[in-house]
Amino acid sequence: MADQYRHTKIIATLGPATESKEMLAKLILGGVDILRLNMAHASHKWVEDAMWYIREASTEVGRHVAVMMDVKGPEIRTGEVDAPIKLGVGDVIEFYTKKGEPTGDVPAVTVNYAGLPGELKAGDVVLVDSGLIQLKVLSSEEAKIRFEVLTSGSLGSRRHINLPGIQVDLPALTEKDENDLRAGVAAGIDFVALSFVREAEDVKTLRKFLDGLGSSARIIAKIEDQAGVRNMKAITREADGIMVARGDLGVEIDYHKLPLVQSELIQACQEEGKPVIVATHMLESMITSPMPTRAEVSDVSHAIREQADAVMLSGETTTGAYPLESVEVFKNIIESIEPSVNRPLNQTITLKTPKAKMLRSAAFLARDLGDSGIVVFTRSGFLPYVLGALRPSGVPIYAFTDVEHIFRQLLLPWGVEPFLIEFADDPEVTIQTSMRVLREKGWTKEGQWLAVITNALASDKIIDTLQLRQV
Ligand code: PEP
Repeated sequence: MADQYRHTKIIATLGPATESKEMLAKLILGGVDILRLNMAHASHKWVEDAMWYIREASTEVGRHVAVMMDVKGPEIRTGEVDAPIKLGVGDVIEFYTKKGEPTGDVPAVTVNYAGLPGELKAGDVVLVDSGLIQLKVLSSEEAKIRFEVLTSGSLGSRRHINLPGIQVDLPALTEKDENDLRAGVAAGIDFVALSFVREAEDVKTLRKFLDGLGSSARIIAKIEDQAGVRNMKAITREADGIMVARGDLGVEIDYHKLPLVQSELIQACQEEGKPVIVATHMLESMITSPMPTRAEVSDVSHAIREQADAVMLSGETTTGAYPLESVEVFKNIIESIEPSVNRPLNQTITLKTPKAKMLRSAAFLARDLGDSGIVVFTRSGFLPYVLGALRPSGVPIYAFTDVEHIFRQLLLPWGVEPFLIEFADDPEVTIQTSMRVLREKGWTKEGQWLAVITNALASDKIIDTLQLRQV
C-alpha cells in the first residue's frame, strides 16, 4: 500500500479496547506496524488467542504486522488487594514481604521484592503507581516497612513501585518472564521488549534464554531507570534496539531531564545503527478525548524530527475510548512533519565492512537522484537495518527477503518497507521479481530511477554491487 508509506513506524499496545479480531483488522489497516503484548496484564491463553487473531486479521486485510512481547523484568509491585485501599495524607500503610505478616493495626499489602526492607531507611520516599502515590518510610524491619502517606490516592492491586536511584538486587529475567517468553516464542513473537534493563549483561541473559528456546526474536532494551541511562552505550551495543520507556523513566529520573535523556538515547542508537522507540504518554489525553492536546502534537512531532524509528501507543490503544483515532492522529502528524525533516545522512554510525560503506553511497545516490528509492535483498535483515539507520530522508528502502520472520522484523526500522518473495539462484531474476512487485503494488512509476544493492556474478565470483535501474 504505497499511499501508506512513512519513515516513522507505529506501535500499538493491545488490550481490551483492541483485542477483538474486528478491532485488530481496523488497527492493522489503519497503519499499525507492530503490536505490543504487555505481559504485566496478560495470561498465556490471551497471548495464544491474540497471536491467532492478529495473524488472521492481518491475512484478512492484506497488511502485515510484527508482534512484540513486553516482559516485565525486575519490576517491584504491590500484591493483590480485595478492594482498592483509600489513602489520605498522613495515613499509615504497611508493605510486607513473603517472609513477613501484616501487623494488623493499619492497612497492609504484600510486595514482591524480599530485599525491599533492606534497601530502605526512615525518611526515604517511595513512589507508587507512576508516582501518583508518594510514601515516606517511617520504619523498615526485616520483612515489613511502614510508610506515611504524602499524597493521597487509591491503591489497587499489583501497583508498580519506583525507587529512584536505588539499584535493586533482582534478576534481569524473573521466573514469570521466562514462562511468558516460552508462551510467546511458541506463539511466534518477533520482538521481545525487556523492562528495566540496567546493564548490557541483562540483554545477554535474555539472549541466552531465547537462544535456548531456539528463538531469533530481536531484543528491545527498555531504558527506564538511572542505571539504564548510565549504561546506555553498552546496552545499545548489546541489544537489537532501545525503547525510551518514558513512563517509568519520568519517575526514576528528574522529569525535567526526560527530553535530554530521550535525545541522548536516540543519538546512542544512531551511533550504533540500532532502532529506537519513543514510548508512553504520547497521546495520553486521547484515552478519553477524541482530540490530542496541542502539547501532545508537539511531543510526537519532536520524536519524528529527532528521527526516532517508531512511536508507541500504550493506554491509548489498550483501554482508551479512541484507539483508532489515536493511530490516525499519529499518521497525520507523521505525514505533516516528515517532509519537513531534511537532515543530512547519519554521519555518526561506524560502518565497518566495505559492503556496509557501500550502503552510505547508495543512500547518498538515491537522495541525489530525487524521487527515488533503494532496493536491497537480505536474508538476515542486516543491510536494511543499516540503511534505515543512515536516515535517507525522502527515500523509501524497499527490502526484499525470503525469510518470513526477518520480513516481519523489518517492520521496525525507520523507512524500511519489507517484501517477502522467493529468491532465485540467478540474482538478475530476483531483481526482476522485485521490480515487478514494486510496480504491481504501486510503489514505483515508469521512468523512476532506483539504487539497487545486490549480488552479481562476475566471471565465476559473486560480488557486491550498487546498480542504477530505471523502472
Ligand atoms: C514505560 O514505562 O514507559 C513503559 C513503556 O513500560 P510499561 O508500559 O511496561 O510500564
